[in-house]
Amino acid sequence: MSDKKSWKEHEGTVLHSVEDFDVIDCELCGFKHIIPIPDEDELREIYKHDYHVKDKPLMLEHQLEDREWLDSINDARLATLEKISNGTGSFLDIGSGNGFLLGQAKKRGWTVKGIEPSDKAAQYSCSQGLDVECAVFDQECADRLDQFDVVHLGDVLEHVPYPRAILNLCNQVLRPGGLIAIGVPNEYTPVQKILSEDMSTRPWWVNPPHHINYFDKNSLEGLLSRCGFTTCHSEVSFPMELFLLMGKNYLDDPKLGRECHAMRKQLELNLTKSGNRDFLDKIYGCFAEAGMGRTVLVIAQKNTEQE
Ligand SMILES: [Zn+2]
Repeated sequence: MSDKKSWKEHEGTVLHSVEDFDVIDCELCGFKHIIPIPDEDELREIYKHDYHVKDKPLMLEHQLEDREWLDSINDARLATLEKISNGTGSFLDIGSGNGFLLGQAKKRGWTVKGIEPSDKAAQYSCSQGLDVECAVFDQECADRLDQFDVVHLGDVLEHVPYPRAILNLCNQVLRPGGLIAIGVPNEYTPVQKILSEDMSTRPWWVNPPHHINYFDKNSLEGLLSRCGFTTCHSEVSFPMELFLLMGKNYLDDPKLGRECHAMRKQLELNLTKSGNRDFLDKIYGCFAEAGMGRTVLVIAQKNTEQE
């Protein structure tokens, strides 16, 4: 397990090998990713036709079912951004999916725009009256955009071949002092390690080529810092893999997965609706300290003086 491998200039200890890919703890990049890194054109095709349609056929259906919960999460995220930036402004969501966050932001007074590679998801967003363009966020796309006060990327960075290049483009479309908010799965957590190393559970989170990069709070903050951002807030979501430790093996059972998800949702809605959001944040702060949490969100400010 402690073998080192390299591909082009990327080198690091191999953590897992799945199909034709190895996950390495890359010394060059400062975060874990697969090698070989897939080709941009291959990925473009996967996301255009495949992702929401084939791999996630139930995504919109589930999101509509989760509407109240999703709205409460998006509201809390927007409230945090408004607190840091002293109000609303212009908001760009890269990989805006079905547009729920954008819709919520618009309601709160933000001027919103979305970029979404899946044609189905972009179409759905436009049908909801949102300004969403079906495109991949690349240099050409960044060049035709104005500057924004906030750029948001939810569940994007784990899928892109070169995260640093994307963050540099984000830097380009952010006004000086603007905020970037990045949400990614939190991987190689202590609970995942216990389950896979000590309890023979397969490393379910390793999912190439869809998941290219495997971040945690530290490696994401480190990457942001190297790209000209200073972290001002971070938080995690409920550590779903705790259910696996409690004997609820939802990995090969989508129905049980929905049940576990419903329990987490109920916990969050009960605390939010009863006016105890602060207590919820406190509990999740403890999870974060223990390196746990299914996803991690980092909000960082664009440095005003660039090298
Ligand atoms: Zn690397």
